[in-house]
Amino acid sequence: EKMPMASAREENILVLVRLRPLNEKEIAANEVADWECINDTTILYRNTLREGSTFPSAYTFDRVFRGDYSTRQVYEEGAKEVALSVVSGINSSIFAYGQTSSGKTYTMTGITEYTVADIFEYIHRHEDRAFVLKFSAIEIYNEAIRDLLSMDSTPLRLLDDPEKGTIIEKVTEETLKDWSHLKELLSICEGQRQIGETSLNEKSSRSHQILRLTIESSAREFIGKENSTTLSATVNFVDLAGSERASQALPTGARLKEGCHINRSLLTLGTVIRKLSKGRYGHINYRDSKLTRLLQPALGGNARTAIICTLSPARRHVEQTRNTLLFACCAK
Ligand code: ADP
Ligand code: MG
Repeated sequence: EKMPMASAREENILVLVRLRPLNEKEIAANEVADWECINDTTILYRNTLREGSTFPSAYTFDRVFRGDYSTRQVYEEGAKEVALSVVSGINSSIFAYGQTSSGKTYTMTGITEYTVADIFEYIHRHEDRAFVLKFSAIEIYNEAIRDLLSMDSTPLRLLDDPEKGTIIEKVTEETLKDWSHLKELLSICEGQRQIGETSLNEKSSRSHQILRLTIESSAREFIGKENSTTLSATVNFVDLAGSERASQALPTGARLKEGCHINRSLLTLGTVIRKLSKGRYGHINYRDSKLTRLLQPALGGNARTAIICTLSPARRHVEQTRNTLLFACCAK
């Protein structure tokens, strides 16, 4: 049996770029698409009106996905290898980074579902091992952590456990039974994210959502015996707040506190990822935000990371698209 192995590549951060197509509303409004993937690794800015402008027009990454590529293709040809390293006992994180409406949730939802389906398939093919799958879901809003599987909206605390590292106190952990159980839990999360909000989009653009799957397994023949060992690893699916929040001018007045909090996790993540991509020398400031603190075991070290940068092709989004590409370049 072939194990999905982590690749032999040196760097542990895989940077993928996904361009979404123009939607019907944009087409109806005569919006122009200025970005084009010219092959599997390069995306090009083609606005003839802006020819000769100062910013670069071609950007190269591990992989870029055109607007007509399905989420299944983004998974199979991009994120799958990183996501499935969890069955070999390696922690991993998959991020979606991009401005609001660029396709983060659309992409992450599909990738989470395909990963879980593949993990269940893997489990069925490995009857010599006993597996336990645990699922939890949280949201970080204003640096407060909320359990998306609980009706109780009291913020959860992060604790330092001498054995397990940073843990989320009292977070709901469901033992995942099968595929339809996952769908059930995902729809609970969806409902929880909407509670008390005037506009779902407004809230989702400001909060980070983390779906977390922990797999524990042990060889059946050793269970209950002295030499029995349990392999345990976690994969995190992270739907980040809209990246426009990280590039906004410093907020003032009443919005100051909220703005700072929203930005803190996103900005700290950027700093951590830049340091990791440069070869992780020196101090890495995981503890500066809730997001990086709780993802620390799945970032850096032996862990695998995939960042999917989602882009709108629309001319009017060019500034945000460039910002996202600059973030993606820094992660390389
Ligand atoms: P975000 O989470 O980044 O704010 P969404 O994932 O909600 O963005 O996407 C915005 C809209 O665009 C949704 O209606 C979604 O279904 C659609 N969409 C996003 N990406 C794609 C894509 N690659 N192909 C087709 N539709 C997409
Ligand atoms: Mg979203």
